[in-house]
Amino acid sequence: MANNNPGFATLAVHAGAQPDPTTGARATPIYQTTAYVFENADHAAALFGLKQFGNIYTRIMNPTQGVLEERVAALEGGAAGLAVASGHAAQMLVFHTLMQPGDNFVAAKKLYGGSINQFGHAFKNFGWQVRWADTDNPDSFAAEIDDRTRAIFIESLANPGGTFVDIAAIAEVARRHGLPLIVDNTMASPYLVRPLEHGADIVVHSATKFLGGHGNSMGGVIVDGGTFDWSQSDKFPTLSQPRSEYSNVVLHETFGNMAFAIACRVLGLRDLGPAIAPMNAFLLLTGIETLPLRMQRHCDNALKVAHWLKSHEKVAWVRYAGLADDPNHALQQRYAPKGAGAVFTFGVKGGYEAGKALVEGLQLFSHLANIGDTRSLVIHPASTTHAQLTPEQQTAAGAGPDVVRLSVGIEDPDDIIADLAQALSKT
Ligand SMILES: *Cc1c(COP(=O)(O)O)cnc(C)c1O
Repeated sequence: MANNNPGFATLAVHAGAQPDPTTGARATPIYQTTAYVFENADHAAALFGLKQFGNIYTRIMNPTQGVLEERVAALEGGAAGLAVASGHAAQMLVFHTLMQPGDNFVAAKKLYGGSINQFGHAFKNFGWQVRWADTDNPDSFAAEIDDRTRAIFIESLANPGGTFVDIAAIAEVARRHGLPLIVDNTMASPYLVRPLEHGADIVVHSATKFLGGHGNSMGGVIVDGGTFDWSQSDKFPTLSQPRSEYSNVVLHETFGNMAFAIACRVLGLRDLGPAIAPMNAFLLLTGIETLPLRMQRHCDNALKVAHWLKSHEKVAWVRYAGLADDPNHALQQRYAPKGAGAVFTFGVKGGYEAGKALVEGLQLFSHLANIGDTRSLVIHPASTTHAQLTPEQQTAAGAGPDVVRLSVGIEDPDDIIADLAQALSKT
């Protein structure tokens, strides 16, 4: 690019991509292939031995996937990326690289419900223990750390309530203990928040949501900030010790600031297998081209809707960090001055039953378990996404019985408000 420090909107359209060298195709082609012909036997051996980068087999890398990886890494300001089949796959591979059986990590209590399940249930079978802490109190993370702790995990803009987290304060706790801070940046997207600039070491995404933005493809991305020193202690042997399966290469020594992303690819993705489909990588890339436009519109619409709900007689409360009197407003102004995101919660008078009735009455809004679509979406977390949690966990996660969650789309704001008006009139 002519400007060697291109802006965010330019990176969203161009980063990682160039016209196809064989055909001149301007859009990134969908490389719908499983494998790639080696130039000769030495080339094949070099690829398998990690002596040379290149395509071997689409479970490990694919050129369409590669453009997606470079683009998201550029948008986050990271050193390298890895795209995988889903956000949950990204989380699994990050922890697989950091943890041994018997290790633990400390995670925020306010998280996407699926992450609470993954950490609390599925990860147990790997011998990985999660400990919960409160993002409003960074010291509560420190209190859970012991000599088997390997990471801290938070969301920059936390589900389901849409609350901004003081990333820098928690990064400081991680740094003091020699641990990496992993930030799930799904809800904010790098358009609103760039966690690596606030001290995070690794960013994960469910690209299924705002990055892709159209509710049509699953994907996940890991971004390696490139700044964490994996050799400062003996806590991360995957990165700091010789790997026998790759002729005793030490990943951190050999790959420097991209070691973490490479470990996630050549150990985690290779052996656990959640590869992204090339078609999905293409659809997500296409979505990312309009991320800045969509995200701003999501934020502007959400603010209008939140203001309107606040004055409605059947609405008990609204929590949207973009509202000037919201307790989270100061953090939003500090971390995401462009806007407070699309997702927020409010309470309907009448509790659990009224929440369900509202969801049933909406017509423009789709009642489903997703966020970050162009379309406006609604869900009643207590009866759906957070139903598997105990009542205490539900309330701690911001998903109590009267809570309704909106993911405000990019339609005309007057139409979104009219739909809420007619549905509220029936509760
Ligand atoms: C959806 C979501 C995930 C999980 O991502 P999938 O792509 O559904 O696997 C993780 N974190 C957050 C914040 C999410 O919204």
